[in-house]
Amino acid sequence: MEILKIAHSIFDLFFPRRCLNCTSVITQENPLCINCAYQLPFTHWNLDKSNFAFDKLKILCKPTAAHSLLFFRHENPTQKLLHSLKYENHPEIGELLAEKLNPEILTQNYKGIIPIPIHPKKLKKRGYNQVLPYARTLSEKFEIPLIEEVLIRVQNNPSQVFKNREKRLNSIQNAFALTETPLDGHYILIDDVLTTGATISTCVNLIHSKFPKVKISVMTMACTI
Ligand SMILES: [Zn+2]
Repeated sequence: MEILKIAHSIFDLFFPRRCLNCTSVITQENPLCINCAYQLPFTHWNLDKSNFAFDKLKILCKPTAAHSLLFFRHENPTQKLLHSLKYENHPEIGELLAEKLNPEILTQNYKGIIPIPIHPKKLKKRGYNQVLPYARTLSEKFEIPLIEEVLIRVQNNPSQVFKNREKRLNSIQNAFALTETPLDGHYILIDDVLTTGATISTCVNLIHSKFPKVKISVMTMACTI
């Protein structure tokens, strides 16, 4: 163990770990320095109908409740964290964020957690679905089954970043499909960032078109404001 510790120290000397936000050298396992971690803009919302995420979604679909862990603004630490999670091979960020969730907000009896899938081509390129570490950690922590086999991505849409809401809605409408897996009860649908709500509402509406009585609460790691 000592040899391993020394080897790590030597490695750190030449390749020091850096804070994802401000790039200052860090020693702890956390991806952010203490200063940047302290600045993380947590929403402190409950998983309910009285927050901005629910207001965004309620005009597009019928979720039971909604929650986002962090506010997402350009150039704030959330943006850097989620960029690293999605594009820089840092799936552990999703796990860390799930650990930050207030456990008291999950009070209902949920039948399962459904992560929004990415297209197999994107999965091959990226190596993982960036939503999955967050979804899996919540599933393990709260003992809610992770259901990956119900919702599938059938179209690989190009980046949504520069499209307005109408264009996003149109391009995403046929991107998902449901398998034959039956749904019954209350589920949590999970995505990384709630922006226009196009992706999430498409999935909620798709599930409700086949299972109108199913309840879907939406959780995302971040919400744009
Ligand atoms: Zn920092």
